[in-house]
Order: sequence, then structure tokens, then C-alpha cells
Amino acid sequence: MQPPRRQRLYVYELPADASLELVGDRAHYLRNVLRVKAGQTIIVFDARGSEALADVVRLTRHGALLQISRRLEPRAESPLEVHLIQAVAKSDAMDLIVQKATELGIARIRPVITEHSVVRLDAERAGRRLEHWQRIARSACEQSGRHYLPTIDLPCPLAEALADNVDSAPRFLLDPDADRSLAQRLAGTHLGVCLLLVGPEGGFSRQDLASAHRAGFEGSSLGPRILRVETAAITACALAQGQWGDLR
Ligand code: SAH
Repeated sequence: MQPPRRQRLYVYELPADASLELVGDRAHYLRNVLRVKAGQTIIVFDARGSEALADVVRLTRHGALLQISRRLEPRAESPLEVHLIQAVAKSDAMDLIVQKATELGIARIRPVITEHSVVRLDAERAGRRLEHWQRIARSACEQSGRHYLPTIDLPCPLAEALADNVDSAPRFLLDPDADRSLAQRLAGTHLGVCLLLVGPEGGFSRQDLASAHRAGFEGSSLGPRILRVETAAITACALAQGQWGDLR
């Protein structure tokens, strides 16, 4: 029989020494969400891929004390580094995209505001949304056994993200009207890194499409049906990982 899977807890930083104090939301998560008890052994991990077995020594209302018993070998990330440039979608759709892209091993999620974005975000709301997405990504890592947190950026205008991606990584723009499929484009070259750009509920404007093409993005379709934003994003991530990443 397989041993039971250990509970996994994200911690902000794994200390070099053997004991680990937790307060605030991490202690709360350990006690009330994972429902761990003193005496249990769990796995703790941080954003940079460090993982360790830790015994829960003490657990109170105010915090927890863990004793690290063994460091674990970090598991490799996907050989394909996928950056998802995602037009900010309505909250439910966006939450689903962040969760599934994290499970699928995507390296970076870059939320962008396009001309037809329904969602407008001022600086304060953008900061709150980012924290919310980071929490979703953390739980997705905890649940899926992934060791690295994807980087998630603050939402920025599409033009800014395009200007930032001037290096030579192959890049694909998900467009229902494109004359080639994403699968065909992906099969064309061996990839180590790729950028996927997915539009909002209202689709891309002509202006968005023109700027993305100027920035080297190749139009790529996902078949004859118009997919919802979240379906399109998840499918594109899965196809890329299936062709060159760790879903092969
Ligand atoms: N009314 C919009 C549909 C937007 S769907 C339009 O006709 O363009 C939201 C986003 O999902 C699109 O901008 C695109 O990036 C992606 N998408 C949806 N269906 C797709 C398909 N069949 N092929 C490629 N991308 C698709």
C-alpha cells in the first residue's frame, strides 16, 4: 500500500537552521485548512524550490513551531518555460486560469490590460488582485505537489508587456481567425521558452493584434470553435507542455 501523501505547506522562506516558527496566515493555514496536529510530519516548501520534511512540535492559536528533520531533493521543473500573457478576465475565469496554469507547470503569468478588457484596475485594486492570485497559485502548488511558485506580475498595459519581451523567445498569439493552429506552430521548432498571449472575453482589438504582430507574435488558432478565455488559456498551456514540456 502507498504511504499516505503528506500535507504540503508553502512557507515564505525555508530557514538554514532546523527550526521554523510560523505566525499569521501560514500558521492559520496549517491549523485550520490543512488541519494538521502537533506530532505530525509535513512537507514545507518555498518559492525557490527548497523542500524539507518537518515535524510539528507545537501548535497554538498564535503560531506554530516546526522542526526540520530532512531536506528533500528539489524536483525539476518542466524543461519548457511557458510565460502566459493573459488579458485580465473576469474574476472567476482569471482565478481558474491562475490555478490551472500553476498545476500545468507554467513559469510566469503576466496579466495585461487590452483595449477590450472588461476589467479596469486602479493601482490599489491591481495590488489586491495580485495578492489574491498569488494565494491561489500557492494553494495550487500545495495541492499539486509542484515545487516552484510561478511568477505572477502586476497587471500592466499590453504595450508594456510587449515592449518587455524583446528577446528571441518564440511567441504565439491565440487568435480564432489565425490560419495556422497552435499545434502546428509548436511542432515547427524545438522550444525551451515560449510566450502565449491570450485575449479577454471581448477578444483582441485590431490595434492589439497589430502591436502583437509587430512584437513578433504569430497568430495561432485552437480549432474551429470559439473557446471561453479560461478554456483557451488552459488548452494553450497544456498543448505547449504536451509538445515540449513535461506533459509529453
Ligand atoms: N469574441 C471574441 C472571442 C474571445 S474568446 C473573438 O471573436 O475574438 C477570448 C480569447 O480566447 C481570444 O481573444 C483568444 O485569445 C482565445 N481564443 C478563444 N477561442 C479561440 C480559438 N478557437 N483559437 C484561438 N484562440 C482562441
